[in-house]
Amino acid sequence: MHSSPIILVCNDDGVRSEGIVALADALRELGTVYVVAPDRERSAASHALTLAHPLRIEKIGTRLYSVDGTPTDCVNLAVNGILKNRKVALVASGINKGANLGDDITYSGTVSAAMEGTLLGIPSIAVSLASRNHFRFEEAAGFSLRVARKVLRKGLPRDTLLNVNIPGVPHEEMREVRITRQGKRIYGDSIVGKRDPRGRKYYWIGGDNLSREDIPGSDLEAIEQNCISVTPIHMDMTSYASMRLLRGWKW
Ligand code: MN
Repeated sequence: MHSSPIILVCNDDGVRSEGIVALADALRELGTVYVVAPDRERSAASHALTLAHPLRIEKIGTRLYSVDGTPTDCVNLAVNGILKNRKVALVASGINKGANLGDDITYSGTVSAAMEGTLLGIPSIAVSLASRNHFRFEEAAGFSLRVARKVLRKGLPRDTLLNVNIPGVPHEEMREVRITRQGKRIYGDSIVGKRDPRGRKYYWIGGDNLSREDIPGSDLEAIEQNCISVTPIHMDMTSYASMRLLRGWKW
């Protein structure tokens, strides 16, 4: 008998978020699911790894662990610690409460957890629900299951993860799956400066995402058109097109 594949589920919204519960529940159909996730919301934690203070792992249920660190810490501790000497077949991160599209993926803890999995040589996917309210996690979990099944069967190209975004619309309004490229947002005035009760200035980062650049085939375009977006993300960030240009400079 084949042993059931081990699937590691992580996120950046915290171990108790609705999205991670929906994802873990769906993926149990495919294997043995371990959930290792931050003890609180760590959205926009990016690919941060905690090196300056000790990390605690708390077992809070069957194959369910809470970590007082970042999403990247969780994947690293799970693979090199909790699941040491066992083969992890898939890392699935999400389902994030909100989209991870365009440049936003560089801040994303959800995508970074999948990056960590990829760096550790494990096929990895990040799943986000592109909604602002009314989160339909069940439907998103259904599609996550389809993606995970395919990735387990076919694997992924080396150093490549899948960034999946699902539009937050009812099933009947959802259109086809599109393989997309990373798009580009145009950010509005994104810093709000105010004064605290003691008269000191403070700032709040994060304005409205007003619009996007018109890049045909982008993730942002797909979501705007109610399509499911699947973007292959490569961990080699070298700009090959720039290498020739730079070699042409007088060094
Ligand atoms: Mn999040």
